[in-house]
Amino acid sequence: MLAVPDWPGHRAGQHVDVRLTADDGYQTQRSYSIASAPSSDQRIALTVERLDDGEVSPYLAGELHAGDKLELRGPIGGYFVWEAALGGPLLLVAGGKAEQDERYHKTIRESVDALLGAVSEADRILLIMKEVEGLSLKELEKIYKVNENALKVRLFRARQRVLKAFGAAEKKEDAG
Ligand SMILES: Cc1cc2nc3c(=O)[nH]c(=O)nc-3n(C[C@H](O)[C@H](O)[C@H](O)COP(=O)(O)OP(=O)(O)OC[C@H]3O[C@@H](n4cnc5c(N)ncnc54)[C@H](O)[C@@H]3O)c2cc1C
Repeated sequence: MLAVPDWPGHRAGQHVDVRLTADDGYQTQRSYSIASAPSSDQRIALTVERLDDGEVSPYLAGELHAGDKLELRGPIGGYFVWEAALGGPLLLVAGGKAEQDERYHKTIRESVDALLGAVSEADRILLIMKEVEGLSLKELEKIYKVNENALKVRLFRARQRVLKAFGAAEKKEDAG
């Protein structure tokens, strides 16, 4: 929570830039969304996720103490803030990253299924156990009762056959 004298107030969705200055004059700044609701008490809250290897967030989330001073610029942004007073129709568009991810994963799933469908059942089972289920060569040795080298050869050949099927599918797509 920061006390900001002369804070002009803010609207939902706006952020501030926090600038830090080191003793040697080095400066760096980062943006943080204002996490508190608009109010007139000249105080704002920021929620900072600490990135252990980050430059600024470990300082803000761990080293900053009550009474320390920060340089703030803001509130910034407002281009995407709607207010009731603006009136007019409001179009809400649903869908976004989750749907995009789902579509992307579906395409990948279908492509992988199609490729695995292009090789023998024996190859398919071996590849799924190794690449999807994550079984180790030691575990596969026990299942297949062959030594590691023989398994590596089988896996190599199975992967080659999948790659061949992939190449053939790509060629077909280019031609179509
Ligand atoms: C509008 C806006 C609002 C934001 N609101 C918030 C908020 O509310 N809360 C919040 O926690 N954050 C917010 N952020 C993010 C915030 O501004 C910082 O980016 C974040 O805190 C990380 O800063 P840092 O200095 O700790 O990390 P940085 O030092 O900037 O590093 C970030 C990551 O990038 C990696 N990295 C740095 N340099 C390189 C490089 N050269 N090559 C490869 N990797 C590198 C680091 O290892 C680290 O993992 C917001 C950003 C924007 C733009």
